[in-house]
Amino acid sequence: MQHIGIFGGTFDPVHWGHLLVAQTTLYQVPLSKVIWVPSLNPPHKKVALFKNRWEMLKLATRGNSAFTVSSIEAKRSGTSYAINTFMDLSSCYADTHWYWITGLDTFQTLPRWYRGRELVQMCDWLIAPRQLGGETTDQSELICKQVEQQLTQQSLTIRWQLLDIPLIGISSSLIRRLCRESLSIGYLVPESVRSYINTHNLYSDKSE
Ligand code: ATP
Repeated sequence: MQHIGIFGGTFDPVHWGHLLVAQTTLYQVPLSKVIWVPSLNPPHKKVALFKNRWEMLKLATRGNSAFTVSSIEAKRSGTSYAINTFMDLSSCYADTHWYWITGLDTFQTLPRWYRGRELVQMCDWLIAPRQLGGETTDQSELICKQVEQQLTQQSLTIRWQLLDIPLIGISSSLIRRLCRESLSIGYLVPESVRSYINTHNLYSDKSE
């Protein structure tokens, strides 16, 4: 049996935080493969073109044979929901134990996901610690347990594991803000992604 993780997100743009999270799952779980799934139309966000986000992911993951970038979401129209992504992907792989990779902020919203009940039971959940709402200490374990409790109240049992990595204070919004302000994003994203952003003049629109 193979162990595969799905890492969904907007990746607008992909940054070193994402890459460290994915890489950690390869040796801490361990997973044999991580499928990166950029979303087409996420329910709550306005995002850059799918093509740009997908190309930056390809550049960032190039050279790591355990990473695959999926364009599965571009083949569907309408809002991107995780359950649809999972159904589509899982039908392509036989004999697989599935994991869903997420940062703590996203994991916190799981009890409210569209058809989340089904997804909770079909995957193991790998959670990356993340600083939330100005917290100065790492409350990740506690927050995961609170999510588990909320799901238990909905009669759901979740299998989850907190990844053992330091808090990484990088976000795509930080990168976009730095670009808007014409400040350096060096060492926050891979050099290939920084160069792509410059060449395509992404995130420079001051009105965003
Ligand atoms: P934005 O700042 O636009 O909200 P983001 O940096 O959170 O973007 P996403 O593409 O929305 O990036 O994130 C995809 C997944 O990666 C989410 O589950 C998110 O929680 C997780 N993630 C992103 N950055 C980090 C980080 N620095 N540490 C841990 N998890 C992260």
